[in-house]
Amino acid sequence: MRALAVEGVWKFYGDYPALREIRFDVEPGQCVALLGRNGAGKTTLLRILAGLARPSKGAVKVFEKDSLDRATRGQIGILGHGIAIYDELSAYENLRLFAGLYGIEQPDKWAMHWLERTGLERVKDGLVREFSRGMRQRLAVARAFLHNPKLLMLDEPFTSLDDRAIALLQGLLRESLAAGGTVIMSTHQLREALELATNVVLINRGKLAHTGARTQEMLDDPGYLYRTYGEA
Ligand code: ATP
Repeated sequence: MRALAVEGVWKFYGDYPALREIRFDVEPGQCVALLGRNGAGKTTLLRILAGLARPSKGAVKVFEKDSLDRATRGQIGILGHGIAIYDELSAYENLRLFAGLYGIEQPDKWAMHWLERTGLERVKDGLVREFSRGMRQRLAVARAFLHNPKLLMLDEPFTSLDDRAIALLQGLLRESLAAGGTVIMSTHQLREALELATNVVLINRGKLAHTGARTQEMLDDPGYLYRTYGEA
């Protein structure tokens, strides 16, 4: 069973094709780095994969399902721009709220667990409104992992994180992958992403420029990817 199937996805904003016939599969256990320059269409694609936007043409399957039912949604963890974190609640209250929405057992225990894992236990009762960008991003990471999702979709997950938090997130992603989880993440931070990635998907101006295994050449020289496939 494929974790994700992207089947000829187009997205138009007015007349502008932000995505043009994107097609690739993701198998369970893979970690896909979704790469491309600013405006390539990464965020648009991730939003469609997460069910937050619809393709203009084509289809997406998550665990072979055409539409995201409640059970399938519960298997997805998302982190990205504009994913709800409530400013007027504390870090703990945010996680407790989402744990309740996901219907997970022992919501208090898991809210505390993820505050600890993301280094937020000391500020758990602080209002998110007063958090720095880095602290918010840690909380967004906690929210994404809270319900033990099998498939993580992350848009620029390393942005706003300091070096320690980047290492922490990489560790959490490694754990998830080791447990059979699947990850797709967009990023500008090539090195951090390529260290983890098993596969890469490169988008250039809305078109699939390359998809395949992450190779040693890419690790040794991240610029290689753009030079080799960037002008598709
Ligand atoms: P970045 O790395 O800068 O976030 P990206 O690869 O995620 O870029 P998208 O945000 O998906 O790219 O944008 C792809 C293209 O679609 C861009 O040209 C952008 O201007 C356009 N676009 C994105 N969202 C909208 C929208 N809501 N309305 C109109 N055009 C949009």
